[in-house]
Amino acid sequence: MDRDRLYRADAIVLRRRNIGDADSIFTLFAADRGRFDAVARGVRKARSKMRGHLEPLTRVRVLVAKGRSLDILTQAETLEAYRPLRDDLDLGAEALYCAELVDRFTVEANGQHDVFDSFTRVLDALATGAPRHVVRSFELALMALSGFDLQLGACAHCGGSLPGESILLSAPAGGFVCMGCRGQSGGGRLVSRRCAAVLRFARDAPIETFGQVQVDEALARELRAALADVIHHVLDREPSSAQFIDDVRRAPAQLSP
Ligand SMILES: [Zn+2]
Repeated sequence: MDRDRLYRADAIVLRRRNIGDADSIFTLFAADRGRFDAVARGVRKARSKMRGHLEPLTRVRVLVAKGRSLDILTQAETLEAYRPLRDDLDLGAEALYCAELVDRFTVEANGQHDVFDSFTRVLDALATGAPRHVVRSFELALMALSGFDLQLGACAHCGGSLPGESILLSAPAGGFVCMGCRGQSGGGRLVSRRCAAVLRFARDAPIETFGQVQVDEALARELRAALADVIHHVLDREPSSAQFIDDVRRAPAQLSP
């Protein structure tokens, strides 16, 4: 095979879709290439050497041949299987949701070392027992790296301070909005003061530190809903894994293996 047509990449598998009887197209994300698609021929056959190395959420070293329309995976070797994320349906759903965000927020053929770093850190955190609210830290980081850094320190509209028991988080305004600016904010969700404080900390602290913050169930729900609104606004429709996580929570027995 022509050497110029081959490239190597350390990537995380975001998703797979099957085509034909035995092939699959994988969407991968690498620090120096961003998101890319490649097909693995015969990967669903029992004798495929790549089988087992390309499950979604696996960090994998691949050798890829440039194809005319679609690149072709020729080798795949697992670097990190993130076993705990496979063994726990709930954790796996959170991690797949992060993968879907990476898929939706990033572009092809573009180095994205910071996004790759954030993504591996949230997977590492989830796989090593960090509480699930670390996903909020990842959402904020991914949005900031994608040009949607939320204004959380002062009113996003007038720059004024944010008094009161609750604060409006407005996606159209790009952050918190003070009482006086609510009418011009384009709408949003009222969040409690403690939710606002934790969101600020989530944005400013390393994910490992944020993972040590105690968050009760009600606050975890509030944080999740607040950022879901913003992400929904930014991506203009709700990522389907968010729906998937809801489904898992509602009917765990039904979806358990
Ligand atoms: Zn204001």
